[in-house]
Amino acid sequence: MISGSIKFDRQRDDMVKRQIEARGVTDEKVLAAMRKVPRHFFVSEALGDQAYGDFPLPIGEQQTISQPYIVAEMTQAMQLTGDDRVLEIGTGSGYQAAVLAEIAYRVYTIERIHSLLVKARRLFDRLHYHNILTRYSDGTAGWIDESPFDAIIVTAGAPKIPEALIAQLTTGGRMVVPVGDQHSQELIKIYKDEKEIRKTNLGGCRFVKLVGEYGWRDT
Ligand code: SAH
Repeated sequence: MISGSIKFDRQRDDMVKRQIEARGVTDEKVLAAMRKVPRHFFVSEALGDQAYGDFPLPIGEQQTISQPYIVAEMTQAMQLTGDDRVLEIGTGSGYQAAVLAEIAYRVYTIERIHSLLVKARRLFDRLHYHNILTRYSDGTAGWIDESPFDAIIVTAGAPKIPEALIAQLTTGGRMVVPVGDQHSQELIKIYKDEKEIRKTNLGGCRFVKLVGEYGWRDT
């Protein structure tokens, strides 16, 4: 894998220490992945120097790459073991998928904006993430042919929990999804038991819209 310059390596270590460990993320697998994935490759060259800052950044098409801390928090909430088959809705820059690919067995990621998906796919090849499979479509309906998944992550804000996705979780499966209005959401973690669906609120967050059949209408 291309590691990037020493300057970026140092910024990345600092990011993990000050933004992620300091705020209570403890899963070593998550911390190691965040220390490894070269986030500066996932933003335009002009924004490279801001890539490790404590904020989201624009990636074109009015979309954003999430703040590093939220990527780490959501990844930790998925409780990955290493054998997991994971579904992501909203590939965007591809950064979250790369973090997942460092930990999980295989990552399936869906994006509805073609130009973003093409860019992300090029990066996956360049960085040798051969365990990431991509799909160009509306992800609110999931990826039925590859289901069930051990974990599902939705990286865009949904008006309500997309029920179709819960059906595509294994028993014991976990899902994290931001749910709310178009300005702010609550990060909801779902655990699918044999008998019940358990929901936990992990706190406030702010994502771009999930647009699709079981999301917001395209306007
Ligand atoms: N995980 C991304 C964050 C992307 S922002 C990253 O690490 O960079 C959210 C992304 O979700 C946008 O690219 C947007 O186009 C995409 N999106 C929104 N609704 C979608 C849908 N129904 N299916 C697939 N992708 C969707």
